[in-house]
Amino acid sequence: MNIEKTLKEFSSSECSCNRAHLFTIRHVCVESGAIEKLPLFIKEFESKKPFILADKNTYLACGERVVEILENSKINYSKYVFETGEIEPDEKAVGSAIMHFDNTCDLVVAVGSGVINDIGKILASTSKLPYFIVGTAPSMDGYASATSSMSMDGVKVSLPSKCADVIIGDIDVLKNAPMKMLQAGLGDMIAKYVSIAEWKIASIITGEYYCDRIASLIKTAVKRCVDNAEGLLKRDDRAVKAVFEGLVIGGVAMAFAGVSRPASGVEHYYSHVWDMRGLEFNKKVDLHGIQCAVATNVVCGLYEKVLKIIPDTTLALKHAKSFDYEAWKEDLKAFLGSSANTMIALEEKEQKYSVENHKKRLEIILNNWEEICKIIKEEIPPKNKIEEILQSIGAPKTPEDIGIDCDLSLTLKATKDIRDKYVLSRLLWDLGIENL
Ligand SMILES: [Zn+2]
Ligand SMILES: [Zn+2]
Repeated sequence: MNIEKTLKEFSSSECSCNRAHLFTIRHVCVESGAIEKLPLFIKEFESKKPFILADKNTYLACGERVVEILENSKINYSKYVFETGEIEPDEKAVGSAIMHFDNTCDLVVAVGSGVINDIGKILASTSKLPYFIVGTAPSMDGYASATSSMSMDGVKVSLPSKCADVIIGDIDVLKNAPMKMLQAGLGDMIAKYVSIAEWKIASIITGEYYCDRIASLIKTAVKRCVDNAEGLLKRDDRAVKAVFEGLVIGGVAMAFAGVSRPASGVEHYYSHVWDMRGLEFNKKVDLHGIQCAVATNVVCGLYEKVLKIIPDTTLALKHAKSFDYEAWKEDLKAFLGSSANTMIALEEKEQKYSVENHKKRLEIILNNWEEICKIIKEEIPPKNKIEEILQSIGAPKTPEDIGIDCDLSLTLKATKDIRDKYVLSRLLWDLGIENL
């Protein structure tokens, strides 16, 4: 598969959802030896002096080679390499990148994955320069996204930044990433089983926008990752390529849809909750994709139970009427600390707990219960399949495996307040079900 061609074709053909699916990335090059093409892309952008951003680890993994390639091609450059490989995506790191930025440069080239990419995107958007990312690990789906996942004022936020103009995934580099990062990448991909199902379900219940072609694009990418999953432990080229491309497609699909629906659902919110608790209470956190993977395992188990639910109108109405939002606000604050404030402010606007809004949604749910169950059966694999996949790549399977020790039923409940997005926890609340 040529990913650039596939995405450009997808974007240029008309869609039955009636939305334009704009593709703004100029090049996505995923192949063995892809970094050798860097001088070509730099020339295409008429850059005279790129600014290279890396951290200690990513510089060793690939930055050194990037610099060598530029020198061989007689391309002038400046660089900043963070002294450690453990950077927090916060004000200090962004400040440091900006202070070391050489403003005679006309292009930002970040060499890294998660954090370096998030900071690189902010640097490029602030300096209004084109942005290239040379990926060092297929670990998360931020390569093609226009936001940066940061911690700001001690709270986790998603900041608008800039989408890459060129994405380079050199298989020879990616396959040598730490195994945990390869596992995380696959974890972020299997999460999409849930995202797609919830997107479809939500479109029924809330009437929100849904595009079947985008959903299919994601599903094909997930299938390719899962079909090749076993090769990941052996660092097989095909398996690594499938994951990196899948992650790029995940990011692009969000841009196509204009919402995060194609790539993130309730499982991502579990991960957000754990990240918030990490920031607030110094609790143990893991890589985004690893957290999403174990959350997907939990959530697939819960959806199996949803299929056994027989909706009860009286119970659901009674539950909504007696719901004590003031008490829930206190629970949220105790569970998530100051991160809860944004969620509480969101509810002031959204009013999802209002009895009238609930009644309207419940009616739609009851009228479409069979269809909702059909989507769950078709889109969400059984828990044991998820466990099998995780087992086959030697990845952690449960929250306990990664040291998450908080109450999982409280985690689920908190996920319904994170964003204005209809996910499993909201469906359960609407049905009047406190616990599965
Ligand atoms: Zn569409
Ligand atoms: Zn993700």
